Amino acid sequence: MEDALIFKHMQAAVDIVNSSQHPTSKVAANLVGRDLDGYEFSIVRTNGWPQPIKDILGTEARIGNSSGSIHAETQALLESKLSQDAAIFITDLPCPNCVKNMAEAGVRKLFIDHKGFEKDFAQRRGHHFDDMSMKICEKAGVSVTKVFRKDGVLTSLFKPKTGYTPAIEKPAILQTLPHEPSPFLFQKTIAAEYARYQDRPFALGFAQSLLGKAHIISAEVHPVLGYTSQTIEEQDPKYSYLLQPVNRVLMTASRFGLKLIKGYIFSSRIPTPREMVNLIGAQHTEIHVGDLADSRDAEGLQAMHLLEDAGILGFRKLN
Ligand SMILES: [Zn+2]
Repeated sequence: MEDALIFKHMQAAVDIVNSSQHPTSKVAANLVGRDLDGYEFSIVRTNGWPQPIKDILGTEARIGNSSGSIHAETQALLESKLSQDAAIFITDLPCPNCVKNMAEAGVRKLFIDHKGFEKDFAQRRGHHFDDMSMKICEKAGVSVTKVFRKDGVLTSLFKPKTGYTPAIEKPAILQTLPHEPSPFLFQKTIAAEYARYQDRPFALGFAQSLLGKAHIISAEVHPVLGYTSQTIEEQDPKYSYLLQPVNRVLMTASRFGLKLIKGYIFSSRIPTPREMVNLIGAQHTEIHVGDLADSRDAEGLQAMHLLEDAGILGFRKLN
């Protein structure tokens, strides 16, 4: 990408950062890639609250152990047209969760505005950026560049070696859907994926490409791209190196330019609160769940009841 374009794309994020609904930590991100027709797209988003959460529960509400807000980078990815090989321009230091999502979604280049390194909350977040976000970028092969807009200077913080291929044990699985989506085919697919994943938690969704082809995306819990169960690092108390199945399905859809079809998303257990918030951010209103008594932690159950009672996200048990 030409330098002039890099500054232009970063400026597009900077231009909207003050429109963020967040009272103190205002962040914007610009996801730039090419869609299935080869046209460049740019999705510029700030951090904020999905409308239903903001309107019904308010911005202070906790959704289980998660906030109800979505970071700018993840929101842009949730609305991505095709993030494989895309670049992302951020006004601030990305948190580990967003970097995990970027890696899963196939983003290859990360640009961070120099001012992001100077803000108050950069100081607070700084160690998670150095200890985790940067490490994930290195393992996942995502280049990181600091952008000095005013001086017109780019400083590389990390560049993967030519031909570097990140380790991945269990990529999300993409299959062509044999027929038109139907509840019958949904049930049949779920049964087949239970046979594949056995007792491991997994999620799946039917997804449509802009070219009309329908696919099945399925995934289980997995370390972030570049890590394996052998190389995974010690867990930070706040952030995990693991990606949850629903998040992986959401990010895989973004990666390949697929749109998840409403009513055809399934999780074998109750999703985590963060997965629920991301689903809402992707404008979904329901999810089918295999076992409504099973969740990773108690907060999942709590969040489910909160969102169900508020009429924001429905949880359907398959018969
Ligand atoms: Zn984040």
